[in-house]
Amino acid sequence: MRIVFIGPPGAGKGTQAERLVGAYEIAHLSTGDMLRAARDTQSEVGRKADEYMSAGELVPDDIIIAIIAERLREPDCENGYLLDGFPRTIAQAETLDQMLAEKGTPLDTVLELKVPEEDLFDRLAGRGRADDTPDVIRQRLVAYREQTEPLLKYYGNQDLLKSIDGTGTIEQIFVRAKTVLDEFAD
Ligand code: ADP
Repeated sequence: MRIVFIGPPGAGKGTQAERLVGAYEIAHLSTGDMLRAARDTQSEVGRKADEYMSAGELVPDDIIIAIIAERLREPDCENGYLLDGFPRTIAQAETLDQMLAEKGTPLDTVLELKVPEEDLFDRLAGRGRADDTPDVIRQRLVAYREQTEPLLKYYGNQDLLKSIDGTGTIEQIFVRAKTVLDEFAD
């Protein structure tokens, strides 16, 4: 199973991703987690990424693509994976398509978690991560709208997009996600 999971910041994607990778025994590839880990090791890449993350801006495509390309070569990805937070731009999506075409392992589906914009701000503001200050949250929402939302059409055109309602309890949302993804489980 190779899945892309898309949703705005604050949609609860991370929570659902954890549960879904557990249910299907696939790898969880969260670019946000990878970048925070890189930042914490104070590596060159981590320091560079942090400049963008702490401003709520997207990290440049070349950095993120290098990280993901390396991660996709790890053996645990052979069982399938859920991409959480990647791709976030059309350029990233096109590169991913190319990489997967070369490997002969296309995506099975793209799952969108839909949450009304007015719910997102409050959820993020209540979370307390370093990049959860009001100005940075606003910038992350703008980045989502301008750079990531176009992916919905991109994947819709490929007939890969499935959208679920991201409001309700964690359990309700999980059941909705599983109902969609069960079709692709072996
Ligand atoms: P959220 O979805 O709550 O904004 P993430 O943990 O997914 O949080 O990402 C945190 C930050 O990491 C983003 O604001 C961005 O700066 C950076 N980031 C994560 N994934 C990507 C990506 N695919 N492309 C560019 N930047 C990314």
